[in-house]
Amino acid sequence: MSNDQDRSVPKIVALEVLEKNGVNVQRLIELIRKGVGAEFTTYYYYTILRMHCTGLEGEGIKEIVEDARIEDRNHFEAMTPRLYELGGSLPRDIREFADQAGCPDAYLPDNWQDINSILKVLLEAEQCAIRSWGEVCDMTAGKDPRTYDIAQKIMQEEVDTRHGLLSFCQKDPLVTLEESLLDNLHMLVNKVV
Ligand code: ZN
Repeated sequence: MSNDQDRSVPKIVALEVLEKNGVNVQRLIELIRKGVGAEFTTYYYYTILRMHCTGLEGEGIKEIVEDARIEDRNHFEAMTPRLYELGGSLPRDIREFADQAGCPDAYLPDNWQDINSILKVLLEAEQCAIRSWGEVCDMTAGKDPRTYDIAQKIMQEEVDTRHGLLSFCQKDPLVTLEESLLDNLHMLVNKVV
């Protein structure tokens, strides 16, 4: 019992420091919960996507989906402990968790045999992840170094994934993404790095 109390003391002090630094801790908790929700659901949807990529023409896409899949699971695991350190928690009900995720579901497209439609799903999921972790970085820069470091590392990995997507798009003759999507991809790669 006294151990529990001992443990809770530094936690509260740390939160007070964050508030003093100008962090809206409740808002931060909300953003992180949405962010880890998106990572977890994306991991789930990428698992489906990856299964359908087996045997697809242009096998390279399978590796990209697999890397992104494992990466998102790691992102979920990297940030969730911080959510609890900040006094937040995951919803007890996974349905609620999925509903509050900060990004749209990365559904398997109807025409999943088409590499372009899979790339579109990946690209949109990446864009959303960058946006939501970017928000966490903006909110914590210079104020909450621990959260910032984790969010920053996640962002960097999303950027690397986008580089992989971009070079895949440039190399694979089967890829004929609409120009606007490719422009978007270029813009994002140049902006964040
Ligand atoms: Zn991720």
